[in-house]
Amino acid sequence: MKPLQDRIAHHVRSIPRSGIRDFFELVVGRDDVISLGVGEPDFSTPWHIREAAIYSLEKGQTSYTSNLGLLSLRQEIAHYVKGLFKVSYNPANEILVTVGVSEALDLVFRALLNPGDEVIYHEPCYVSYNPSVVLAYGVAVPIQTRVEDNFVLRAEDVEAAITDKTRAILLNFPTNPTGAVEPLEELEKIAALAIRYDLIVVSDEIYCELLYGGEDGMSPGHHTSIASLPGMKERTVLLHGFSKAFAMTGFRLGYSCAPAVLTEAMMKIHQYSMLCASIMSQQAAIEALRNGAPEVERMRRAYAQRRNLMLKRFAEMGLPCFAPGGAFYMFPDVRKFGLSSKEFALRLLQEENVAIVPGDAFGSAGEGCVRACYATAYDKIEIAMDRLAAFVGRLS
Ligand code: PLP
Repeated sequence: MKPLQDRIAHHVRSIPRSGIRDFFELVVGRDDVISLGVGEPDFSTPWHIREAAIYSLEKGQTSYTSNLGLLSLRQEIAHYVKGLFKVSYNPANEILVTVGVSEALDLVFRALLNPGDEVIYHEPCYVSYNPSVVLAYGVAVPIQTRVEDNFVLRAEDVEAAITDKTRAILLNFPTNPTGAVEPLEELEKIAALAIRYDLIVVSDEIYCELLYGGEDGMSPGHHTSIASLPGMKERTVLLHGFSKAFAMTGFRLGYSCAPAVLTEAMMKIHQYSMLCASIMSQQAAIEALRNGAPEVERMRRAYAQRRNLMLKRFAEMGLPCFAPGGAFYMFPDVRKFGLSSKEFALRLLQEENVAIVPGDAFGSAGEGCVRACYATAYDKIEIAMDRLAAFVGRLS
């Protein structure tokens, strides 16, 4: 018999396992470790949202829904997105409810790409971008953003990567893992490129409610979606979801907003693979959108305080780090210690029981930095910072 390994499709064999998961297997079951690792809110889902899911079960709502998702949820999404991004989408045919932004990413590339088509994306980035393109038989073309430039994506770098095979540009602002927020002028230039070269933009805006504005980072900043720029709605697939701002990771719920033709193509794949997202999660999401804003703001303020704590402590211990404008990640530069980011993270784990993620898990552009997630309780972050300071002190 042919070895089973040889039966795995070539494109699946070619993709690596997630560097984050590999690293965190080292941590599993270790209560002594403070984890600043996995990018997941430490808050439970706000109670009124959980209650809506419970009511849904109580009322016996345990059926499939429309493939696109409950119409009442799509109407709420249209209302919410209009308020947030100032873009109008028709709930009847421009909004698709998915199993997290993860599924939406899978759908959009399977819907758009023919084998060999190229997708430009910016690194360091969320670990699933490259595999999502490769699994759709596309070619993922990374552009490096740089720590010296606060990880801004430069339109000139995007333009240099465009070829006659480029079909789409994938953007993520605020960015996982850096927390970077794109300056409006640069976003406008990227939009102009998309129009000039007739490209689709896939914009993952899952962290857009988590912004840290003002001098002290405490006020809600302002987010501009590329979909809201002139001429962009018709060529943008906007992805958003409930995992981060509403602390609903386990509900597995996201959505895409896109022109009807693209929504229909994504829906066709979704209907044969997922069929629909869970009805209990969809009922909970309606409640989240209707009444969740105060809880989102409470959590955002808590993240802002933790971000400020980390920034202060990094500065005191001489760990260079730019002040991130959004998400819940810090991406300090550890190059001056002469260790690779993996060595730095492994030694910190072994010597001080603090888990962070090596920057190269997010693409080669992340090498030299590490990701510390502050979706962890303030007092735990304080202890983690004491331990990190001791470690950095020994390295210096
Ligand atoms: N996009 C980004 C940038 C993320 O950081 C994550 C999760 O960490 C996701 C998408 C996946 O989100 P979801 O839970 O909605 O599948």
